[in-house]
Amino acid sequence: MKALVKKEAQAGLLLEDVPMPKMGVNDVLIRIQKTGICGTDLHIYNWNEWAQKTIPIPMQIGHEFVGVVEALGSSVEGFQIGDSVCGEGHIVCDHCRNCLAGRRHLCADTLGVGVNRPGAFAEFLSIPKRNVWHADPDIPDKILALFDPLGNATHSALSFDMLGEDVFITGAGPIGIMAVAISKHAGARHIVISDLNDYRLRLAKKMGATVCLNPSKESIEPLKEKLGMREGFDVGLEMSGNSDALSFLINHMAHGGNIALLGIPDSKTTIDWEKVVFNGLTLKGIYGRKMYETWYKMTAMIQNGLDISSVITHYFKYSDYRAAFEVMQSGNSGKVILEWN
Ligand code: NAD
Ligand code: ZN
Repeated sequence: MKALVKKEAQAGLLLEDVPMPKMGVNDVLIRIQKTGICGTDLHIYNWNEWAQKTIPIPMQIGHEFVGVVEALGSSVEGFQIGDSVCGEGHIVCDHCRNCLAGRRHLCADTLGVGVNRPGAFAEFLSIPKRNVWHADPDIPDKILALFDPLGNATHSALSFDMLGEDVFITGAGPIGIMAVAISKHAGARHIVISDLNDYRLRLAKKMGATVCLNPSKESIEPLKEKLGMREGFDVGLEMSGNSDALSFLINHMAHGGNIALLGIPDSKTTIDWEKVVFNGLTLKGIYGRKMYETWYKMTAMIQNGLDISSVITHYFKYSDYRAAFEVMQSGNSGKVILEWN
């Protein structure tokens, strides 16, 4: 089968012919239809410092996917050949305290599909049954292909009560943009999103942001006044990974505000702890998605009208992967999809 492989310790990926995936008795073999390119894939493509210390070579990468069941391990029940599925890319240990208590997103011994084991940028993927999500076939496959990052946005945005609250999202990457739509769906009053990239801010506006702020060009104070905000934001979603953005967010929270931190810091970050303490802020780190409450919630929200389709800006055939990664690299993109069918 064809697969995108990190073959050498340098930038780039190769399209290779590789053997079909191995299947255990509890595994499901999935014929891939669409995959999303994640920032992590871009880091691996660019072979940055994180990738160099994390990714064993050779590695078939990719973890955002939708497909159909092609074959079932002998112990797998509850799935049929041809079922539409997507999947959770964190494979947990199943025997630590958190796993046993049903808090699998907190497992300290997680393996990543397309990071530590063969990934989804391929014609076929084999993963354990417990990582396969039975998709609602009425949801378009381009949306199901995004359930992994949509899950990051959902897990973050639904960490705190949203109804009637003023929300500030730092970073209008694909996840920040989807978090706008979720916050709106969950009943937030004002949703302000910041980014230094105007292309992405325009996408966020399309998604329903009340105001889009480019902090390199404008100040937030007149904006708060215009929105009739007396104090600061009730909920903050850090989705940029940028240290300045986090400081900005902490500085503009209302007393007692809640912040979900999803962005992976790009450098050592300085936090004004005095603000956190005296303003009574709550900071919550977010990793991955809740298994499988987040998956249930995103399915339900989409069935109930949540529309994230405008986050997708580009489609490419898998063989044109170089052009797809270039578009990602440019920053002038939302979500980029690779088609395998
Ligand atoms: P992305 O890199 O596409 O988006 C980040 C955005 O932040 C970019 O548009 C960038 O221009 C913007 N930005 C940079 N500096 C800024 C500043 N000072 N103020 C405002 N915006 C600024 O990433 P994404 O795919 O949307 O993911 C969002 C973040 O979440 C990334 O940091 C990613 O690594 C992280 N992530 C975390 C998890 C997890 O489980 N914790 C999972 C997936 C992604
Ligand atoms: Zn565990």
